[in-house]
Amino acid sequence: MKSILGFGTGDPYAASEMDTAPAAAPDPVRSLVSVRFIDDGRVLTYYNDRFALEPGDRVFVSGKLAGKIGEVEKVVTKFRINLADYQRVIAKAGGTLRGTFESLLDKMVSFDGDALSPDEFRAWILPPKHWDGQEETEEQIIVGDGYEIPLSEIEETEEVSLSVIERALDYCRSGRVAYIGVKNGAGTAFIEGSSWYEVNFRLDGDLLTEMYCECPYPGLCKHLLAVALTIRALRDIGGLDTSRDFAALDSDRFWSMAARSARRITL
Ligand SMILES: [Zn+2]
Repeated sequence: MKSILGFGTGDPYAASEMDTAPAAAPDPVRSLVSVRFIDDGRVLTYYNDRFALEPGDRVFVSGKLAGKIGEVEKVVTKFRINLADYQRVIAKAGGTLRGTFESLLDKMVSFDGDALSPDEFRAWILPPKHWDGQEETEEQIIVGDGYEIPLSEIEETEEVSLSVIERALDYCRSGRVAYIGVKNGAGTAFIEGSSWYEVNFRLDGDLLTEMYCECPYPGLCKHLLAVALTIRALRDIGGLDTSRDFAALDSDRFWSMAARSARRITL
Protein backbone atom coordinates (compact mmCIF):
# COMPACT_ATOMS: atom_id res chain seq x y z
CA MET A 1 0.00 0.00 0.00
CA LYS A 2 1.34 3.37 -0.99
CA SER A 3 0.91 6.09 1.55
CA ILE A 4 1.53 9.81 1.56
CA LEU A 5 1.82 10.63 5.21
CA GLY A 6 2.20 7.13 6.54
CA PHE A 7 0.35 7.41 9.83
CA GLY A 8 -0.11 3.79 10.78
CA THR A 9 -0.69 2.53 7.28
CA GLY A 10 1.05 -0.69 8.17
CA ASP A 11 3.73 -0.14 5.55
CA PRO A 12 6.52 1.90 7.08
CA TYR A 13 8.47 2.11 3.85
CA ALA A 14 5.91 3.31 1.33
CA ALA A 15 8.00 5.29 -1.12
CA SER A 16 7.36 8.41 -3.11
CA GLU A 17 9.38 9.02 -6.24
CA MET A 18 10.33 12.54 -7.08
CA ASP A 19 11.91 13.98 -10.18
CA THR A 20 13.63 16.98 -8.71
CA ALA A 21 16.66 17.64 -10.87
CA PRO A 22 17.40 21.31 -10.18
CA ALA A 23 17.49 23.68 -13.13
CA ALA A 24 20.76 25.57 -13.73
CA ALA A 25 20.82 28.87 -11.83
CA PRO A 26 19.90 31.70 -14.21
CA ASP A 27 21.93 34.94 -14.35
CA PRO A 28 21.04 37.57 -11.75
CA VAL A 29 18.71 40.37 -12.84
CA ARG A 30 18.82 43.79 -11.16
CA SER A 31 15.45 44.42 -9.64
CA LEU A 32 13.35 45.97 -6.94
CA VAL A 33 11.43 43.28 -5.16
CA SER A 34 8.44 43.44 -2.84
CA VAL A 35 8.94 40.94 -0.05
CA ARG A 36 6.16 39.73 2.24
CA PHE A 37 7.50 38.50 5.57
CA ILE A 38 6.06 35.19 6.65
CA ASP A 39 6.06 36.05 10.38
CA ASP A 40 3.89 39.14 10.32
CA GLY A 41 2.72 39.67 6.75
CA ARG A 42 4.56 42.97 6.39
CA VAL A 43 5.53 43.87 2.81
CA LEU A 44 8.70 45.90 2.14
CA THR A 45 10.73 46.68 -0.96
CA TYR A 46 14.37 45.63 -1.40
CA TYR A 47 17.07 46.08 -4.00
CA ASN A 48 18.40 42.91 -5.59
CA ASP A 49 21.38 42.42 -7.89
CA ARG A 50 22.36 38.88 -6.97
CA PHE A 51 19.57 36.61 -8.03
CA ALA A 52 17.08 36.06 -10.79
CA LEU A 53 14.03 36.31 -8.56
CA GLU A 54 10.47 35.38 -9.30
CA PRO A 55 7.29 35.76 -7.27
CA GLY A 56 7.08 32.89 -4.80
CA ASP A 57 10.84 32.70 -4.20
CA ARG A 58 11.84 32.78 -0.54
CA VAL A 59 14.55 35.25 0.41
CA PHE A 60 16.53 36.74 3.28
CA VAL A 61 17.32 40.45 3.41
CA SER A 62 19.66 42.92 5.11
CA GLY A 63 18.46 45.57 7.55
CA LYS A 64 16.00 45.39 10.41
CA LEU A 65 14.33 42.21 9.19
CA ALA A 66 17.58 40.29 8.69
CA GLY A 67 17.04 36.68 9.67
CA LYS A 68 13.30 36.69 8.87
CA ILE A 69 12.22 34.70 5.89
CA GLY A 70 10.16 36.50 3.27
CA GLU A 71 8.41 35.59 0.07
CA VAL A 72 8.86 37.60 -3.11
CA GLU A 73 5.53 39.10 -4.18
CA LYS A 74 6.51 41.32 -7.06
CA VAL A 75 9.66 41.93 -9.12
CA VAL A 76 10.20 45.27 -10.91
CA THR A 77 13.08 45.63 -13.35
CA LYS A 78 12.35 49.16 -14.62
CA PHE A 79 13.42 51.53 -11.88
CA ARG A 80 15.75 54.33 -10.83
CA ILE A 81 16.63 54.52 -7.13
CA ASN A 82 19.11 55.93 -4.69
CA LEU A 83 20.82 52.80 -3.43
CA ALA A 84 21.36 54.34 0.02
CA ASP A 85 17.58 54.27 0.55
CA TYR A 86 17.35 50.51 0.18
CA GLN A 87 18.27 47.36 2.00
CA ARG A 88 19.14 44.35 -0.12
CA VAL A 89 18.17 40.80 -0.80
CA ILE A 90 21.17 38.87 0.59
CA ALA A 91 20.19 35.26 0.02
CA LYS A 92 17.68 33.11 -1.68
CA ALA A 93 16.42 30.38 0.62
CA GLY A 94 17.34 26.87 -0.47
CA GLY A 95 15.11 23.89 -0.19
CA THR A 96 15.82 21.65 -3.12
CA LEU A 97 14.82 18.07 -2.49
CA ARG A 98 16.12 15.17 -4.49
CA GLY A 99 15.97 11.44 -4.27
CA THR A 100 13.55 9.01 -2.77
CA PHE A 101 11.72 9.67 0.46
CA GLU A 102 9.67 7.23 2.46
CA SER A 103 6.96 8.12 4.91
CA LEU A 104 7.59 7.04 8.46
CA LEU A 105 5.28 8.24 11.24
CA ASP A 106 5.06 12.02 10.76
CA LYS A 107 8.41 12.22 8.95
CA MET A 108 9.61 11.71 5.40
CA VAL A 109 12.86 9.77 5.48
CA SER A 110 15.57 9.29 2.86
CA PHE A 111 18.46 6.85 2.96
CA ASP A 112 20.12 8.29 -0.15
CA GLY A 113 23.02 9.70 1.87
CA ASP A 114 23.13 13.06 0.12
CA ALA A 115 19.36 13.61 -0.08
CA LEU A 116 19.24 16.61 2.22
CA SER A 117 22.33 17.60 4.18
CA PRO A 118 22.15 19.74 7.34
CA ASP A 119 23.71 22.63 5.39
CA GLU A 120 21.03 22.40 2.73
CA PHE A 121 18.28 22.34 5.34
CA ARG A 122 19.86 25.30 7.14
CA ALA A 123 19.84 27.30 3.88
CA TRP A 124 16.09 26.75 3.74
CA ILE A 125 15.35 28.20 7.18
CA LEU A 126 18.21 30.53 8.09
CA PRO A 127 20.12 33.28 6.31
CA PRO A 128 23.84 32.73 5.64
CA LYS A 129 26.05 33.63 8.58
CA HIS A 130 28.32 35.69 6.35
CA TRP A 131 27.64 37.55 3.15
CA ASP A 132 29.46 40.25 1.17
CA GLY A 133 29.07 43.73 2.57
CA GLN A 134 28.51 42.54 6.12
CA GLU A 135 31.05 43.16 8.85
CA GLU A 136 32.58 39.91 9.97
CA THR A 137 31.99 39.23 13.60
CA GLU A 138 34.28 36.77 15.22
CA GLU A 139 32.63 33.70 16.62
CA GLN A 140 34.05 31.81 19.47
CA ILE A 141 32.30 28.56 20.15
CA ILE A 142 33.26 26.77 23.33
CA VAL A 143 31.70 23.49 24.35
CA GLY A 144 31.75 21.63 27.62
CA ASP A 145 30.91 17.96 28.01
CA GLY A 146 27.98 16.90 25.86
CA TYR A 147 24.97 15.03 27.19
CA GLU A 148 24.58 11.29 26.84
CA ILE A 149 21.15 9.70 26.52
CA PRO A 150 20.41 5.99 26.04
CA LEU A 151 17.42 5.77 23.68
CA SER A 152 15.82 2.91 25.63
CA GLU A 153 16.07 4.79 28.91
CA ILE A 154 15.40 8.41 28.05
CA GLU A 155 13.03 8.90 30.97
CA GLU A 156 15.51 7.39 33.45
CA THR A 157 18.45 9.51 32.31
CA GLU A 158 20.04 11.67 34.97
CA GLU A 159 18.94 15.33 34.89
CA VAL A 160 15.77 14.52 32.90
CA SER A 161 12.76 16.05 34.59
CA LEU A 162 9.13 15.21 33.90
CA SER A 163 8.25 18.79 33.04
CA VAL A 164 11.00 19.03 30.41
CA ILE A 165 9.98 15.64 28.98
CA GLU A 166 6.40 16.90 28.67
CA ARG A 167 7.52 20.00 26.83
CA ALA A 168 9.74 17.88 24.57
CA LEU A 169 6.76 15.62 23.78
CA ASP A 170 4.74 18.70 22.86
CA TYR A 171 7.51 19.67 20.47
CA CYS A 172 7.47 16.20 18.92
CA ARG A 173 3.69 16.22 18.52
CA SER A 174 3.60 19.62 16.87
CA GLY A 175 6.25 18.80 14.28
CA ARG A 176 8.84 21.16 15.70
CA VAL A 177 11.60 18.59 15.23
CA ALA A 178 11.82 19.68 11.62
CA TYR A 179 14.95 17.86 10.50
CA ILE A 180 17.23 15.09 11.70
CA GLY A 181 20.19 13.94 9.63
CA VAL A 182 22.70 11.25 10.58
CA LYS A 183 25.78 10.49 8.53
CA ASN A 184 28.53 8.12 9.68
CA GLY A 185 27.13 8.34 13.20
CA ALA A 186 27.31 12.17 13.33
CA GLY A 187 23.91 13.76 13.71
CA THR A 188 22.41 17.21 13.26
CA ALA A 189 18.86 18.27 14.04
CA PHE A 190 16.95 21.53 13.67
CA ILE A 191 14.16 22.32 16.10
CA GLU A 192 11.77 25.21 15.67
CA GLY A 193 11.10 26.85 19.01
CA SER A 194 10.91 30.57 19.70
CA SER A 195 13.69 30.59 17.12
CA TRP A 196 15.61 27.83 15.34
CA TYR A 197 17.95 25.72 17.42
CA GLU A 198 20.54 23.31 16.09
CA VAL A 199 21.28 20.13 18.00
CA ASN A 200 24.41 18.09 17.34
CA PHE A 201 25.01 14.55 18.54
CA ARG A 202 26.52 11.19 17.78
CA LEU A 203 24.37 8.11 17.39
CA ASP A 204 26.06 4.88 18.37
CA GLY A 205 23.72 1.91 18.63
CA ASP A 206 21.25 2.68 21.41
CA LEU A 207 23.29 5.58 22.69
CA LEU A 208 23.13 9.27 21.84
CA THR A 209 26.38 10.90 22.89
CA GLU A 210 28.11 14.28 22.58
CA MET A 211 24.71 15.98 22.50
CA TYR A 212 24.81 19.76 22.28
CA CYS A 213 22.08 22.32 21.76
CA GLU A 214 22.76 25.93 20.94
CA CYS A 215 19.84 27.27 22.99
CA PRO A 216 20.66 29.30 26.10
CA TYR A 217 19.04 26.85 28.57
CA PRO A 218 21.82 25.68 30.88
CA GLY A 219 20.95 22.02 31.22
CA LEU A 220 19.38 19.07 29.48
CA CYS A 221 16.90 21.05 27.40
CA LYS A 222 13.65 20.09 25.69
CA HIS A 223 15.36 20.29 22.28
CA LEU A 224 17.82 17.52 23.14
CA LEU A 225 15.03 15.40 24.57
CA ALA A 226 12.75 16.06 21.59
CA VAL A 227 15.50 14.78 19.27
CA ALA A 228 16.02 11.67 21.42
CA LEU A 229 12.27 10.97 21.62
CA THR A 230 11.85 11.43 17.86
CA ILE A 231 14.71 9.07 16.99
CA ARG A 232 13.35 6.49 19.42
CA ALA A 233 9.85 6.74 17.97
CA LEU A 234 11.17 6.39 14.42
CA ARG A 235 13.18 3.35 15.47
CA ASP A 236 10.80 1.57 17.84
CA ILE A 237 7.42 2.45 16.30
CA GLY A 238 8.41 3.25 12.73
CA GLY A 239 11.00 0.49 12.34
CA LEU A 240 13.77 2.85 11.21
CA ASP A 241 17.15 1.13 10.95
CA THR A 242 19.24 3.69 12.84
CA SER A 243 22.51 2.03 11.86
CA ARG A 244 22.05 3.48 8.35
CA ASP A 245 22.66 7.08 7.31
CA PHE A 246 19.34 8.86 7.03
CA ALA A 247 17.72 12.26 6.73
CA ALA A 248 14.25 12.72 8.27
CA LEU A 249 12.15 15.74 7.49
CA ASP A 250 8.88 16.67 9.11
CA SER A 251 6.09 15.79 6.66
CA ASP A 252 4.46 19.25 6.56
CA ARG A 253 7.78 20.85 5.83
CA PHE A 254 8.64 18.15 3.31
CA TRP A 255 5.53 18.85 1.28
CA SER A 256 6.02 22.60 1.34
CA MET A 257 9.60 22.08 0.15
CA ALA A 258 8.50 19.51 -2.41
CA ALA A 259 5.92 21.92 -3.81
CA ARG A 260 8.71 24.41 -4.46
CA SER A 261 11.36 22.08 -5.81
CA ALA A 262 9.69 19.20 -7.58
CA ARG A 263 8.66 19.32 -11.16
CA ARG A 264 7.05 15.94 -10.99
CA ILE A 265 6.01 13.77 -8.06
CA THR A 266 4.74 10.24 -8.44
CA LEU A 267 2.91 8.71 -5.53
ZN1 LIG B 1 18.06 23.48 23.61
